[in-house]
Amino acid sequence: MRMTKPVAVVTGGNTGIGRAVSVALAEAGFHVGICYVTEEQAAKDLACEISGVAVYVDVSDEASVKDGVRQIQEQLGSPEVLVNNAGIQERVPFLEMTTEQFDRMLAVNTRGAFLMMKAVVPAMMNGQCGRIINIASQTALLGRSEMVHYTASKGALISMTKSLARELAPYGILVNCVAPGPVTSGPALSSVKERTAYMASIPLQRFAAPEEVADTVRFLAVSGDYFTGQVLSPNGGEVM
Ligand code: NAD
Repeated sequence: MRMTKPVAVVTGGNTGIGRAVSVALAEAGFHVGICYVTEEQAAKDLACEISGVAVYVDVSDEASVKDGVRQIQEQLGSPEVLVNNAGIQERVPFLEMTTEQFDRMLAVNTRGAFLMMKAVVPAMMNGQCGRIINIASQTALLGRSEMVHYTASKGALISMTKSLARELAPYGILVNCVAPGPVTSGPALSSVKERTAYMASIPLQRFAAPEEVADTVRFLAVSGDYFTGQVLSPNGGEVM
């Protein structure tokens, strides 16, 4: 019989989709390690609310990742679930996109997930179980104008997920992606016209609530025993 709750780690777990995921996993019975880089007070308040811990982790910085995961392990125990939710996005026309902007996007969205997975996988291998859920984006599959670096970073995250799912399957570790369509908590579209046009392309005619993305994450964290290397898209029916 398990004497303590299982542990989940959510990067960027104090805002938007990450916050909804932290709450959903706490409701599902996890102790949640909420990793944050901004809005420290919101992270601490949420940690109190859901009996988790809030830990500063900049996923683009290997030392910060190692230190944050160590703190979570000391305070809660080794994570059985990792949700790589932290991400940045911006829109920049291709010819204006600098090398620095491209590199930064991949450093956070792709390498950040790589570093987090490297930090938690050894303990998952020892325990012969684990669930890793990477938050990609439907734009990685559909493409999106003025987001070459963002879509590349999320496309790489999907490929990384599929390869790691194969490599870690013998250890009982499942690795999947959630690739949402547009979410209400996301950055505002630049104009009402653009928002209306985007909405019209979605059969359900609305953006997702963060809680609807969190539902998909919870499914992969607690059920979905035969899912690995998959991409689940809560996208309102927008065609791939
Ligand atoms: P958000 O800005 O609320 O969440 C992003 C989180 O990542 C924030 O908490 C931020 O502080 C954190 N973060 C940024 N840089 C970081 C770093 N270097 N280290 C650690 N954390 C860092 O926006 P959101 O919409 O909730 O996005 C969450 C995830 O969902 C992102 O990966 C995003 O790409 C993805 N996504 C969002 C949408 C959407 O429409 N909102 C759609 C598809 C995918």
